Amino acid sequence: MPVPFVDLKLHHSTLKQEILDAVSRILDSGTFILGPEVEGFEQDFATYLGVKHVVAVNSGTSALELALRAIGIGPGDEVITTTMTFVATVTAIVATGAKPVLADVTQNEWTLDPDGFEKAITPRTKAVIPVHLHGRPANMQAISRIARQAGIAVIEDAAQAHGATIGTQMAGTLGVMGCFSFYPAKNLGACGEGGAIATNDDELAEKLRLLRDWGQSQRYRHDMPGCGNFRMDAIQGAILTLKLRRLDAWLAARRRLAEKYLMALDGTVGLPLSHPGHAWHVFSIRAKNRDRLRHFLQDRHIASGCHYPIPAHLQPMFASLALKAGDFPVSESLVDEFLSLPLFPEMTDQQCETVIDAIKAYK
Ligand SMILES: *Cc1c(COP(=O)(O)O)cnc(C)c1O
Repeated sequence: MPVPFVDLKLHHSTLKQEILDAVSRILDSGTFILGPEVEGFEQDFATYLGVKHVVAVNSGTSALELALRAIGIGPGDEVITTTMTFVATVTAIVATGAKPVLADVTQNEWTLDPDGFEKAITPRTKAVIPVHLHGRPANMQAISRIARQAGIAVIEDAAQAHGATIGTQMAGTLGVMGCFSFYPAKNLGACGEGGAIATNDDELAEKLRLLRDWGQSQRYRHDMPGCGNFRMDAIQGAILTLKLRRLDAWLAARRRLAEKYLMALDGTVGLPLSHPGHAWHVFSIRAKNRDRLRHFLQDRHIASGCHYPIPAHLQPMFASLALKAGDFPVSESLVDEFLSLPLFPEMTDQQCETVIDAIKAYK
């Protein structure tokens, strides 16, 4: 029996009629961009997160860029983030004209190293973007403390962490803003592109609404520079609203499977360090000879992923940052060993055991 990495067709099969009904309702309404479907989702997601405002946009990348713009970040400023992330965290900084300053992750948590962050601060630093990699919350306590002392803003990249928790709070609500992606394969995914910014700050929420919609305070009156079209469409708003109602059940299924992997693979390969609030977007192991193991699994029709094979500082697109191999040794060793195992809410116990058995059989 083949084991896919994720199965988005299966994921949507039980929702199909409800989605089609929503699309039909939108066709009849004639409102395709923002409007009541998107506002409804913003309210529901704000309630879910326990935050005052959610501003829905057209991607997670836009969410990050607008969050930075909302606090006035631009040319001459520096923003710190980790090299162990999807490139969008870094390109969002570049898009504002600010300089991305990268830092390493910690050996066991795989998230932004507070010491590395602190050392990277300069008089130009305006913000830090911790990334909740794989759905595991970053060390927000230490990062927030350092940021507060240095007077810089914390913007969370929660694109992989819908439903992750830190104590009694949801990931994405601890910084001044939290950014989410609804790329289809994320824990909460649209049937297309989508993103959102969560904040408790009334003024920032107002600014974000202007930034995503051509800076229009009134029709055809454009107040703010740095704006554009970053709006969410009504169909994604409606689909996200109905999918949000299932998010906790999907997260519970992810957690159960992750715990199965953790138990069964203990002592076999390097495992992610547990965290009570982990949202298990990705289950990544550390394996020596990762590529050989990947082929071994492939031969047994088991799909796997690699998040991510190249750290940001070694990506050709960021060559102008003049960083080099050896600059961030923890991330560099992780990218050679990371192997993401199949993990999706509909995955069966049998599929999970197939993966476990194959890894145990690997020599
Ligand atoms: C997916 C992702 C993004 C970008 O989101 P998009 O919706 O694809 O633009 C940003 N940061 C991280 C960590 C992500 O995983």
